[in-house]
Amino acid sequence: MDDFFLKFIFILLILLSVPYGCKSYTKNINASNIKKSKKIIKNNYVLSSRFFHPRNSKDPHSTINTIAKLNPKRIDWIYYSSKKVLKLYQHYKLPYSLALNPQTPDSLGYTTRPFRIIEFTGDLYKAPWMKKWKIKNPHWGCVNNPKFNKVFLAKALYLCSLKPYALFVDDALFNARLKLDKKIGCFCKHCKLSFNKKYKTFSVFEKNLDSIKLMLSKEQIKYAKKSKHLRGFISKYEEHQEESVVLFLERWKAEVKKKYHKVRFLTNNYNGKWNPIYKVFDGGIAELDEKYINVKDLDSIYAIADSLNKSQLFSIASSNYEIQKSLLKYNAKNNRESLYPWDIFISGKKRYYMPIDSILKIKKELKKN
Ligand SMILES: [Zn+2]
Repeated sequence: MDDFFLKFIFILLILLSVPYGCKSYTKNINASNIKKSKKIIKNNYVLSSRFFHPRNSKDPHSTINTIAKLNPKRIDWIYYSSKKVLKLYQHYKLPYSLALNPQTPDSLGYTTRPFRIIEFTGDLYKAPWMKKWKIKNPHWGCVNNPKFNKVFLAKALYLCSLKPYALFVDDALFNARLKLDKKIGCFCKHCKLSFNKKYKTFSVFEKNLDSIKLMLSKEQIKYAKKSKHLRGFISKYEEHQEESVVLFLERWKAEVKKKYHKVRFLTNNYNGKWNPIYKVFDGGIAELDEKYINVKDLDSIYAIADSLNKSQLFSIASSNYEIQKSLLKYNAKNNRESLYPWDIFISGKKRYYMPIDSILKIKKELKKN
């Protein structure tokens, strides 16, 4: 048992001695009781405790307990910014990346119309998987909207002041995501203006984007795609939306780097894809479809990241023990980093927590081989 582990058991005892499970749970952490660890952890395992557990009195999970038992080298993709918790990670020399996303609020935790993506129907955009989420910030910001640019930069600078080694942009497709939902893009005044500036001679469409927007109602989009002119318009508009996202992220990154030179930029590049938007980032952390959990596919997916000089970390959206074990096994054998299958996305709002004892058993087995 090393010093590091003993110290975490110590923290755990302190935490268990305070009243359990209330909303202000993190307020009870007293980092000043902890001596700074000088031990540098050398292993290939990363934890992504997306939220700090326990989140409430019914939550059976504990982030601190998990860290103490699993001894990760790093904490990635986290959505909390409690200074007490982060101070604890700093004391233990656990680097961490802080997450932000297109739902970055603009007004007291809410996402309001003047900052957001407007669909061709006039509705505010919500990601399909978030439609049933009961949250006050479901709407995505528009990358061409100067107001949203300011909000997103301010959030990044604030997070950087909390000393993460990296910023993690979740759902970095922003406006370009609408193409996947067959919604073309954002039709706010900023996007239309930007499109018209670029395509001054673009067929009939530049004359009246508003009437085209009306034509592209949900029922008519199939019909619209059959029309040659509209098809041309749609693909140009989608292309322009993607270019706008790349430009937005590059400018944002440059602004952050002016003040925080060393911070890295990470994103969730689903299935290890590297499109022009994801390429703006230094590395990816993503869900990988279980069909790719075989040596041939993993070799080729990791090789793509290597060739682009990007870091890559995967989790699998599955509660299947054998599949999770296969990825851990492949990574151990190939000296790749692994994300512990604990607090990972599986579907909707469900998350998977492999029992810690099972993870330790797998690690023990892998060490033997
Ligand atoms: Zn827009």
